[in-house]
Amino acid sequence: MSASSNVTGFHQRLAMVLSPRSTSEVQALVREHGQDKTTPFYPISKGHNWGYGSRSPVTEGNTLVDLSGMNRIRNAEAISVDHPIAVIEPGVTQGQLHDFLAEHCPELTFNVTGAGRATSLIGCALDRGVGYFGPRREDLFGLEIVTGTSEILKTGFRRLGEDSPLAHLHPDGLGPILDGLFFQGNFGIVTSACLRLRPRRPREVAVSLSLHRTQDLGELINRLARLKRDGLLTSVTHIGNRARNHSTLTYGIAEYLETACGRSPSQALAESEQVLNLLAPNEWASLAAVTGNHGQVRAALREIRQRIGKLARVMVVTDRLLDVGFAVTHALRFLPIARANAAAIHAMRPLHQLALGTPTDLPIQNLMWQFGHPNLDVEEFDSSKCGVLFISPALPLDGALVMDVVAGMERIAEEHGHRLYMTLNIETATSLVAVINLLFDRSEDEQTTRAHRCADALLAYVQERGLSPYRARVDMMDKIVSADDPYWQTVRKLKQVFDPDNIIAPGRYNLP
Ligand SMILES: Cc1cc2nc3c(=O)[nH]c(=O)nc-3n(C[C@H](O)[C@H](O)[C@H](O)COP(=O)(O)OP(=O)(O)OC[C@H]3O[C@@H](n4cnc5c(N)ncnc54)[C@H](O)[C@@H]3O)c2cc1C
Repeated sequence: MSASSNVTGFHQRLAMVLSPRSTSEVQALVREHGQDKTTPFYPISKGHNWGYGSRSPVTEGNTLVDLSGMNRIRNAEAISVDHPIAVIEPGVTQGQLHDFLAEHCPELTFNVTGAGRATSLIGCALDRGVGYFGPRREDLFGLEIVTGTSEILKTGFRRLGEDSPLAHLHPDGLGPILDGLFFQGNFGIVTSACLRLRPRRPREVAVSLSLHRTQDLGELINRLARLKRDGLLTSVTHIGNRARNHSTLTYGIAEYLETACGRSPSQALAESEQVLNLLAPNEWASLAAVTGNHGQVRAALREIRQRIGKLARVMVVTDRLLDVGFAVTHALRFLPIARANAAAIHAMRPLHQLALGTPTDLPIQNLMWQFGHPNLDVEEFDSSKCGVLFISPALPLDGALVMDVVAGMERIAEEHGHRLYMTLNIETATSLVAVINLLFDRSEDEQTTRAHRCADALLAYVQERGLSPYRARVDMMDKIVSADDPYWQTVRKLKQVFDPDNIIAPGRYNLP
């Protein structure tokens, strides 16, 4: 299996893999290897860009620059509630930062994603990933970059030097803000960055909603949007469809039924259906966090219940509630209803904790389990049979339009014999991003080809409606970047400034 093969079923051949350990090593390799101008570099932080291409470059014959060995939190000693900034290298993972903060500064947390403990903070942010508290792009500033000309550029006030009192605290610096160029940009290799940490609030609860009637999805989106704009929903709200919610929960439920209740795998699977109907009985359900002081959270929850209560079942979940609920139902698990509730709590606990800042491998393990992978080591996800393709359109926060686009995409998927696994994420007060994936068995050529054909048709549909993805797979670049478009022509001109020989990630969010 090739080093760049991955769950999308698309990969390009690599020339070699290099693993620099420091910024000066990255600079040296760009300077030296860059001289032959024939072998471009493809930088990755951890290379777990699952569903978007993982370690695969856009074009053939790149040298993979694997930065996972650069995994220092450079200012570990300085991090505190009064200095909530971590200066991190690309190999620092969600799991690593979570464990570090739990041990050294439990008052702080960060914007966690659902992609597992082993994924990076920098790579995910650079590809404009979305965490439970908002777009990851907003977390990162003060970038240290080795450009294609092998110069080191530092953005914001990091340009004043690491010892400047401003270096890690004033995100925008002075003059044009260059950071944006390096998010979904192929102008350089980012070797470190400042990451915003967040104070934990006195009260943090997860709120899950189960929409009673499918036809009210648009109205739910509009009401959640208003709650977001009014500052009452402090996190991203993830609204998932039944396929997606069931897909994420089944493994946790079956695992509990097998290990704690002695069910056989087939019995556990059959019983999981009943538990899923208890947990997520309707087509759409959502998860968000509400955080603040006790008074703020109480007031926000009252308002959420008032505005949403008629449309959806509202469940407020705290760690304590889950602990007590699990203790009682687990003890009574010989009763079917108690067993179902214990299994439900076991499965949803890690997902609720995700909304409150604790990363989990469960969503990835769930996929590996569904595809019959014998062990659930997420590092083996890209060599499993599981096939995943993301299509991620940016959408306006307009319920009727979102419903219409979703219905159109569902129609296309059905024509190709697929169903869509969807989350609609209200990420800011004015924007929604849909993260939609196709699942297929990658060991079957027919399934892989059909899934890619379906993904192409979905992209064409999105574009025909005047919309666009907000994040793109490596195999999609020729369909989203156009030589006729003045915007991409300008991006190409900027490439001349930072990387005139086109040696960094050619074709990635840029003309080839
Ligand atoms: C079940 C499931 C759930 C997921 N949930 C989420 C989620 O909640 N939110 C989310 O955002 N994503 C999610 N993902 C998608 C993806 O797995 C994550 O975004 C993951 O964090 C990306 O991998 P990485 O962090 O290892 O980044 P990498 O793969 O290392 O980097 C991503 C891309 O950024 C560029 N890049 C990386 N490092 C550098 C660098 N140092 N310099 C220049 N360019 C660089 C490269 O183009 C690279 O391909 C999910 C995927 C699955 C399958």
